[in-house]
Formats: sequence, C-alpha cells, structure tokens
Amino acid sequence: MLLCLGWLGDGASVQAAAEPLQRFVFEKAEMGLPFRITLYAPDEAQAKASAEAAFARISALNAILSDYDSDSELSRLSRTSGTGATVPVSRDLWSVLAPAQALAERTDGAFDVTVGPFVHLWRRARRKQELPSAQMIAEARARVGYRHFRLNESARTAELLAPEMRLDLGAIAKGFAVDEALAVLRDRGLPHALIGGGGDMAAGEAPPGEEGWRVEVAALDLAGAPPAQVVLLKNSAIATSGDVFQRVEIGGKRYSHIVDPRTGQGLTDHGLVSVVAEKCITADSLATAISVLGQLAGLELADTTPGVAAHIVRKPGDQLETASSGRWEAVPKLPLP
Ligand code: AMP
Ligand code: MG
Repeated sequence: MLLCLGWLGDGASVQAAAEPLQRFVFEKAEMGLPFRITLYAPDEAQAKASAEAAFARISALNAILSDYDSDSELSRLSRTSGTGATVPVSRDLWSVLAPAQALAERTDGAFDVTVGPFVHLWRRARRKQELPSAQMIAEARARVGYRHFRLNESARTAELLAPEMRLDLGAIAKGFAVDEALAVLRDRGLPHALIGGGGDMAAGEAPPGEEGWRVEVAALDLAGAPPAQVVLLKNSAIATSGDVFQRVEIGGKRYSHIVDPRTGQGLTDHGLVSVVAEKCITADSLATAISVLGQLAGLELADTTPGVAAHIVRKPGDQLETASSGRWEAVPKLPLP
C-alpha cells in the first residue's frame, strides 16, 4: 500500500522556475523494509503517480535481485551453480553483479556477493540463538568465493563454478534500487527528491531554495559514542552499514549480519560505517566492504575511490574509535547543536 504522509500546503509552497512546488512524502514497504520518498511536485496527482512509478521500479528490481524470492532471476542463477551453465543475465542484474564483482576483486573478497551460504548460517543462528558449528562453517566455505563466480562482460553472462553456491546482493541491491527510483522521478520531471530505504539514501536536486537535503548520519548506539552528524546532500547518496541495524547476540557476544567471507564469522567489532558517494550503489557496497576491512584498509578503499567519503565509528574492544577518510571533511554538514 502506498501511504501519502501529507504535503505542505500553499503557505509553505516554494517558487521554482515560475512553478510553485509543494513537498510530498510517501512511504511503502519494499524489499522487506519501509522505503520513503520525499519529493517536490506541482500537484498531488503528479506527485502520487510519480511516487507510484518509483516504488514500482523498486518492486520490479526486487523481483530480479532478491535472494529471499526463489523465483527471482538471482535465485535462478544461483541454482545453476556447479552445472557448467553459462547464464545470460538481464541488464538490471548485470548492473549490480558487475560492480559487485569489481569490488570483490579490489577488496580481495572482503566484499563478496557469493557470501550467501555464510549469511544463511548466521540467519539461522539468529533464529535458533545458536552459533554455527565449525563444521557448518567449513561446509559453507566450499560454496563461497568470488573466484568461483565468473562474469563475461562482452556476452553479459555469468557462471557459478562450485556446486550449491548462493548469491546474496543484500549489501548492494538497495543502493541500486534507490538510485533507479530517483532516476524514475527525474525522468518524470521531478528532480527535487530524496529516497531512502534502510540505511541507504539517494538525493536528487536540493529542495527548492535550499542548499541540500538534511540527512542524519546514524549514531552508534553505545555510551560515549559521538552525536549524530547532519550532512547536506544533493545529487549524491549516503549509506550506513553496521550492527546497529541487524545482529544476533549469543553468549553475551554481539554478531553482525555482515560476515567476513574469509572466515565465515559474523563481525563482532561493533561499528557503523557511513559512506557518501555520487551513487548509492557505490555508497551501499563500500559501506559494507569498509565494515569488513576495518579502519586502515577501509579508509584506503574510500580514499582511492573517486568521489567517495567515509566515516567510521567503531568499538572493536574497550575503546571507541572514530576515523574519517580524506574527503569526509569536505562533505557539507550542519553545525552540531
Ligand atoms: P549492508 O546492510 O548494506 O551492510 O548489507 C548487509 C547484507 O549484505 C547482509 O545482510 C548480507 O545479506 C550481505 N552481506 C553480509 N556480509 C557480506 C559481505 N562481506 N560482502 C557482501 N555482502 C555481504
Ligand atoms: Mg551495503
């Protein structure tokens, strides 16, 4: 169901290019999460039709990219693993798999969308409140690894070389979906928009008459953590990854839903990584990658990726650490109160 959360009436309307624009907010559950669209439009009919089209794009992408849906193109591709099949891939799936695989190579597998079998073990751990055994991790390990996943760019095909592999785009698909939904609004003549789902947000043109969209960078939910910062975004995106959002606590230890594909273990160093980039697909995937890589290699990844800024708040042991990549300082922010 599409929920219109209301709009600001004439009193708050703004003049932009001789056309009065009003602010509208819509919310809808997509990809198992509430997505929110804030946009400026001349009237409610145009706002609503455009928001519906943007949500429909997210929904269509979910039907392709979801690992929960056994009919999705992604799940069908996973089922060909180990058969020797070279599988043609749709343009949308390719748009996610190609950058995912490039990032896996750059991070030597810290980011790896073949991580599905490990993620499955940790989802089970959460349900059962029981850690995966060493044997289960070892069994899953044979089914994980970006080197067993081959893409052929000119033919736009994919091949999964080991049996029983399982692709999981949870760390990158939402970012792509909000980018695409924003493009739908832009194509319909509504560029002043902000779209968010979970920790991922894509911003178009700023609200009329303003510098940018005010977006709060989530604060780590631990005592002594620095307060949330507010960044101003326009034509850029932000994604935040960390164990604040999803985790399991077993035997007094907190395990993240982010897994280190090299060990099969859920991350245990509490942390939040926020990444600003031009596109949300970049921000989303890098936020997860940096969570796995940690401070040193993570910030280097941010610094060596054009247009990317990263901010890390972590508590790996007793000490809280905060660190930022070179470009974070230059991200426009509102002063802290
Ligand atoms: P995010 O919230 O964007 O950090 O994505 C986390 C999700 O990505 C998890 O729920 C898994 O579905 C998947 N995932 C977990 N660990 C990794 C990893 N190391 N590389 C790629 N995807 C991962
Ligand atoms: Mg991510």
